[in-house]
Amino acid sequence: MQEQDTAGTPEKKTGRSVLVTGGNRGIGLAIAQSFLANGDRVAITYRSGNVPAGMLGVKADVTDNAQVDAAFSEVENTHGAVEVLIANAGITRDTLLLRMSETDFTDVVDTNLTGSFRVIKRASRGMLRLRKGRIVLISSVSALYGAPGQINYSASKAGLVGIARSLTRELGSRGITCNVVAPGFINTDMTAALPVETQQTYLSSIPAGRFADADEVANVVRWVASDEAAYISGAVIPVDGGLGMGH
Ligand code: NDP
Repeated sequence: MQEQDTAGTPEKKTGRSVLVTGGNRGIGLAIAQSFLANGDRVAITYRSGNVPAGMLGVKADVTDNAQVDAAFSEVENTHGAVEVLIANAGITRDTLLLRMSETDFTDVVDTNLTGSFRVIKRASRGMLRLRKGRIVLISSVSALYGAPGQINYSASKAGLVGIARSLTRELGSRGITCNVVAPGFINTDMTAALPVETQQTYLSSIPAGRFADADEVANVVRWVASDEAAYISGAVIPVDGGLGMGH
């Protein structure tokens, strides 16, 4: 565990206990910062790098059940049971079907889909006891729109829609919501790694005519996890400048 505090003051005990997987950088970091600014008690999982100021950092790889369990125990001891879970950790292994190895496929599914299952299952224990909870799964426009070279990634992200909808039917009566946020092209390390030609191809098909910043995803995630969104569950909410509209 690594605890950071902006001014050496005691840890804030207001707000809800929020956990963001992969909250050390990119979209996850923006989401974590957004909840922190909202007055929540924010924990993040991280594998590398540093813990952002004001948050509780718990080292965990979402492909490892024991690490996930230990991370939740640390968060519960410090912040109380997780009331808001953001399953954000994700990877890509883009390549065309004929070049895609089975490991390329299963690694992506194990992180993006099974990794989300692992954290949702662990979080649901506390949420069921509390009889309330907010689960937000970070999917992608690729889930339902499709993208060449992303059979593995699209499959893993589309699977999150099935999870959210089944979970809504299973736990919806217990005060727990589960929604999917599907970002389009967001400026992070993940998209910076794409070839410039691929970036240009995406840009030309985005009705908004631009890529987005991670904050624009974070604002939507924070809202769908708020009391104002208590009657939204099993929804797929796009944040994609219109790229995937129609599904
Ligand atoms: P980044 O590559 O910038 O960050 C990925 C994050 O996931 C990092 O914090 C990373 O941790 C973490 N992570 C990856 N694998 C694991 C693992 N096995 N266990 C724990 N943590 C892990 O990606 P983005 O911020 O761009 O993406 C965040 C989410 O948003 C992903 O699910 C992605 O698929 C999705 N998304 C992104 C889009 C975009 O345009 N950027 C578009 C649509 C969806 P570490 O730093 O330790 O590697």
